[in-house]
Amino acid sequence: MSNREERIKLQNIDIKNVSKSFGSLRVLEQVDFSIAKGEFAAIVGPSGCGKSTVLRMIAGLESPGSGAVTANGADIEKPDPSRMLIFQEHALYPWRTVADNVAFGLELAGMRKKERSQRVDEVLAKVGLTGFQKYYPHQLSGGMRQRAAIARALVTDPEVLLLDEPFGALDAITKISMQNELLTLWEGTGKTVLLITHDIDEAIYLADTVYVMSPRPGRIVEQIKLSMPRPRNRNGADFVAVRERV
Ligand code: ADP
Ligand code: MG
Repeated sequence: MSNREERIKLQNIDIKNVSKSFGSLRVLEQVDFSIAKGEFAAIVGPSGCGKSTVLRMIAGLESPGSGAVTANGADIEKPDPSRMLIFQEHALYPWRTVADNVAFGLELAGMRKKERSQRVDEVLAKVGLTGFQKYYPHQLSGGMRQRAAIARALVTDPEVLLLDEPFGALDAITKISMQNELLTLWEGTGKTVLLITHDIDEAIYLADTVYVMSPRPGRIVEQIKLSMPRPRNRNGADFVAVRERV
């Protein structure tokens, strides 16, 4: 195997034959897929089918019952915010200012206060929140809160972004603008992204590969590979989808 093939193989996130129960509830059944470095993958499926459980395993927050979850060939055993960051809709602490929310991952990483505030300012500028450092979450609009939460996920510059229904509660206009910002970020940085959503249109619009899950127990029933390169806009949606039953 060439060095390049070896490298690509090692930088995958691999979910191998994972099954999981909570008590007597079978939540995941033989879930098996992998995400290449730099890929934008999405999981779609109805509420309760086990999407967040898969994401939490990749984040190291939940262990697989059977099977294996690995990153770069090694088992994922505990959360590592500098490597993978999970973003959830209500991820902001209401008692912390925007700046202190965003600084959270840097505090955990032991960064000194002065460097922290420089880095926070830099990331807030990137999401268009310059000047809102001292605001509390309740003083922001829904769209601004989402931006602050995204800033919090980006501040440690993780290789992998794990996004759990990040656009769920947004109005339609803000949603499209945030989706496009995510694409710009992804195209500009080559980050690996796993997006969880119950919106199939959103998944097909954003991702290279879409995994469709069905519930009780959660399993992947379809893999949709979208052709690359393709136009990523809603007016010229002439991309090709190749669907495979799994
Ligand atoms: P989704 O994100 O697709 O809505 P989840 O992964 O959150 O689904 O949950 C899948 C199923 O597992 C649900 O029935 C949920 O109630 C159950 N579940 C998730 N986490 C736990 C847990 N820690 N303990 C018990 N049941 C859980
Ligand atoms: Mg969920």
